[in-house]
Amino acid sequence: MKEKLLRIAIPLIIALIVVIFQRVSAPKIVNEAGRTARLGMNPQQELSLGAQAYQQVLSESRTITSGANYEMVKRCAGRLTAVTGEAGKNFQWAVSVVESNQVNAFCLPGGKIVVYTGILPVAQSEAGLAVVMGHEIAHATNHHGAERVLQEKTANTLLTGANFSLSGTDPRQHQQIMGLIGAGARVGYLLPFSRDHESEADSVGLKYMARAGYDPREAVEFWKRMSAQGGGGAPPQFLSTHPAHETRIARLKAELPKAIEIYHAAGGK
Ligand SMILES: [Zn+2]
Repeated sequence: MKEKLLRIAIPLIIALIVVIFQRVSAPKIVNEAGRTARLGMNPQQELSLGAQAYQQVLSESRTITSGANYEMVKRCAGRLTAVTGEAGKNFQWAVSVVESNQVNAFCLPGGKIVVYTGILPVAQSEAGLAVVMGHEIAHATNHHGAERVLQEKTANTLLTGANFSLSGTDPRQHQQIMGLIGAGARVGYLLPFSRDHESEADSVGLKYMARAGYDPREAVEFWKRMSAQGGGGAPPQFLSTHPAHETRIARLKAELPKAIEIYHAAGGK
C-alpha cells in the first residue's frame, strides 16, 4: 500500500519541483498592461524566433509591395510602432502585406507584423486597420507569446508527472484519466490565460491607437463589423482564439473615455 502511494506521489513531487524551478528561473516582467508576468523566452530568443517565423510566412505567401493598400498598412504600422515607448524599444519592427482573402493579421514576438488583404474590407479605413494592428502589436509588446511558452511548459511538465504516476494503473483507465487531466489543464489553466491576453491586447491596443492619433471609438465599430462577419457560419480564423463579441465590445466601451482623453491629447478631434 505504502509502496503504491509512493509510486503515485514521487513523479508528481518531481514534476512540481521541476515546475517551481522552471518558473523561478524564468525572466519576470511587469507588462504594458501592468501585470507581472513570467516568460518562457528572453528578448533575444523572441527576436530570433519571430524573425524565423516571419521569413517562413513570407516564403509561403504572395506579398504586395506597392499601391494604396500597401501604403496605408505601412503608414499605420509606422504610426503605431512609434508610440509603443519603452515596451517596443528593442523590437525590430517590419511589416508585410500578404495577398490573401484570409481575415487575418498578426504581430510576431519581436515586432514582425503581417497583414492579410482579406482583413482590409472589414477594417474599412486606416483607423479600422489601427484597431487590428494595435491589438496585434499589443500582444507582442506584452510578450504574450513568451508567456504562453512558459505556460505550455508548466502544463506539459505536470501532465508528464501525472502520466508517470499513473503508470501502474490499468491502461484504459490510465488513458481516460490522462484525457480528463489534459482537458482540465486546457479549460482551467491555459484558456483563462488566453482570455487575459485578449483583454490586455484590446486595452493596450486601444491606448496605442489613441496615442497615434486614430479615433479609439473606431474600435467598437470595428468589432461590431467583425461580429457580423462571424455570424452564420464558422468564425473567421482571426477570431478563433478571441472572446465573445458582446464581452469585448462592452469592455472596450468602458475603456473609451480614457482612450478618448489620450486621443485628444495627441491632437485628435
Ligand atoms: Zn488577440
